[in-house]
Amino acid sequence: MTGSLVLLSGGIDSATALFMEARSSDRVVTLSVNYHKRNKREAEAARRIARAAGVVEHLEVDLQFIREAMDLDEGIKREVTELGVPLTFIPFRNLVFYSVGLYYAYVLRLERAVVGHVFEDASLFPDVGERNIAALNGIVERMVPWRRLRVVAPLLGMKKEEVVRTAIELGVPLELTWSCWLEGERQCGTCPGCRKRRETFARVGYQDPTEYDCPNP
Ligand SMILES: [Zn+2]
Repeated sequence: MTGSLVLLSGGIDSATALFMEARSSDRVVTLSVNYHKRNKREAEAARRIARAAGVVEHLEVDLQFIREAMDLDEGIKREVTELGVPLTFIPFRNLVFYSVGLYYAYVLRLERAVVGHVFEDASLFPDVGERNIAALNGIVERMVPWRRLRVVAPLLGMKKEEVVRTAIELGVPLELTWSCWLEGERQCGTCPGCRKRRETFARVGYQDPTEYDCPNP
């Protein structure tokens, strides 16, 4: 028996990681972290995707004290901007999220805490990357030597287009995924999240099944 805890945001990347994991693991649990101003539509998307993947359980953890840099003070915003890091940066987000994932993986007797980082995340955010994950797994092994437990990022070597191609191959319900920064009935089609999504699908040459408020920006 193998088991995985997948950190699921509701976007394409973690949904793809989930469907990959569902193929290779006997038991999969998903977990979403609700931080400050977490997009409600994205949280709903995560619930629907988890259901579609047939997970054993979908957990939601409230960590409202966690804020993105854009919701923190001016000094932090300036610091992050000067570093060239997006304002969606959260200090130690990944360490907190990995730890929450590891906690639940431990208590639910699962071996892997799976995250959906992709290649571009590692170039944009200083806290994402293979070396960070390898170092963290070294610490996990020292802290819990009696268990085989680790953090895994199966998409880290893949660029967005490759992730979308993989998602199509795996039958990920892309129409359920949410990329929009707003919380409308449909994805807006023009915000940075929607723009990136549209560009990626255009490059892959695949018709995105989602409906946008603004179909032709
Ligand atoms: Zn949008």
